[in-house]
Amino acid sequence: MAMSFDVIVIGAGPGGYVAAIRCAQLGLTTVCIDSQAKQNGGQKGKPSLGGTCLNIGCIPSKALLDSSEQYHNIIHQFPAHGISVDNAAIDVAKMQARKDNIVSGLTDGIAQLFKANKVMSVHGHGRVMQDNTVNVLDDSGKIIQTLIAREIILAPGSVPIELPDMPFDHEFIVDSTGALSFDHVPKRLGIIGAGVIGLELGSVWNRLGSEVVVLEALDDFLVVADQQIAREAKKQFTKQGLDIRMGAVVKKIDIDEGGIRMSYTQKDRDNNIEVDRIVVAVGRRPATDGLLSPDCGVAINQGGFIEVDDQCKTDVPHIWAVGDAVRGPMLAHKSAEEGVAVAERIAGSVGHVDFNCVPWVIYTSPEIAWVGQTEKELKKQGIEIKTGSFPFAATGRARAMEQPIGLVKMIADKHTDRLLGVHMIGPHVSELIGECVLAMAYQASSEDIARTIHAHPTLSEATHEAALAVDKRAIHKVN
Ligand code: FAD
Ligand code: AMP
Repeated sequence: MAMSFDVIVIGAGPGGYVAAIRCAQLGLTTVCIDSQAKQNGGQKGKPSLGGTCLNIGCIPSKALLDSSEQYHNIIHQFPAHGISVDNAAIDVAKMQARKDNIVSGLTDGIAQLFKANKVMSVHGHGRVMQDNTVNVLDDSGKIIQTLIAREIILAPGSVPIELPDMPFDHEFIVDSTGALSFDHVPKRLGIIGAGVIGLELGSVWNRLGSEVVVLEALDDFLVVADQQIAREAKKQFTKQGLDIRMGAVVKKIDIDEGGIRMSYTQKDRDNNIEVDRIVVAVGRRPATDGLLSPDCGVAINQGGFIEVDDQCKTDVPHIWAVGDAVRGPMLAHKSAEEGVAVAERIAGSVGHVDFNCVPWVIYTSPEIAWVGQTEKELKKQGIEIKTGSFPFAATGRARAMEQPIGLVKMIADKHTDRLLGVHMIGPHVSELIGECVLAMAYQASSEDIARTIHAHPTLSEATHEAALAVDKRAIHKVN
């Protein structure tokens, strides 16, 4: 007989596990089904909660970004402080073991949180049937359990997109998961796609010594970011040694005894380049394979996303969907917020996600972060704006840190002064953006930030001065 619950959650990534915990906090009997297994180490293949984010996404990438930045700093930053280190070396196996340890600690932590909140955890592949029933299948496709619930939350996340005719072989042509697990530093690394993931992973291996070439099909760099910030980013990344080729569309990959060759066109000319490994980072698609039985009624749109309204309701009553598998940015915190909101709606409360205030962060060095709209987007809508910017080079703290790079740019409505977007590139901007997210959530004006006291000397003074600059009254630069 089918086990019965108030809520079945499919997927234990930030969307699913957060939804499951919040449902349990609200007194709902909850089960969470997840198929993810541990990637590395002694427990490889065992169930591992936390989804893409904890296992093969946000956390392992940040662990490697941090290790590689420390190594890079020893060579490139320490001398300026008068510190010399001879024969700095990177032990890739140790670096990877540290990363695996961090991942294990966090994924095991989710298992403990499930236990403490009485969320039942089931390992397997969930498949939605008719009448609020979910089958759980093992790897061979055999049904191992049947569950039934009043409400179902789908949080299956996303998987990397493969290029046509250039499938992952997981040795020479890898996805982001493969690029997080290299056991040595590839001499020449080709990255296809200059998006967030391509730039972060390209930075990791470039800092460790790879010659990295990034091929990007579009002509404009980081189209999702404000273009003033994108221009600065491209300048800085190029300075660091990333060979970024824009308007370069990869057409073919040949692997033979002679090596690995990527063929691409750029400005209508055919080119090719030899590399030792290729990371395909051309985006992600919803992970809906095998999730929905044909008669369950849940609709998928043309892009493969589960169709939902602004409340995360699917076409089928009592079935909800959140996270990477639905519209909106593929970001862990967006998934988690949707998970909480759906749990609260199910419990009869009011769920809320402010889609205008979702922060974006790219964890390169310098970091890039923003919230709200770009100058280009606002101008396209005919909104009259005023902007103010301030360079980190004019702050004492960034100079003391030997990181006088980048800027904060603030955009406000020309007439009401309401903040419409804040865009940053520079040291620790992943942390600095929080203040601006809060300000925008409270519908603050640039003057509200300008009138707020910021500690001296801190990096946040750049945010303060950018707000002052909106009214041309920044103190530490000529307006
Ligand atoms: P996921 O985290 O993808 O979780 C879905 C889970 O459901 C997975 O465990 C999957 O195995 C499981 N599943 C799928 N289908 C089924 C099924 N039918 N039955 C059972 N289980 C199923 N975002 C950020 O915000 N910040 C970052 O720094 C960041 N860095 C990233 C770096 C990399 C390399 C990658 C790949 C992604 C990164 N992301 C980052 C994106 C982030 O990981 C995703 O936005 C986030 O994980 C989405 O959460 P989710 O819960 O929707 O899905
Ligand atoms: P993101 O969607 O942020 O992960 O970024 C993926 C990037 O890959 C986008 O900027 C795409 O333009 C780029 N891209 C997609 N296909 C190709 C291709 N064949 N060659 C080069 N770049 C590509």
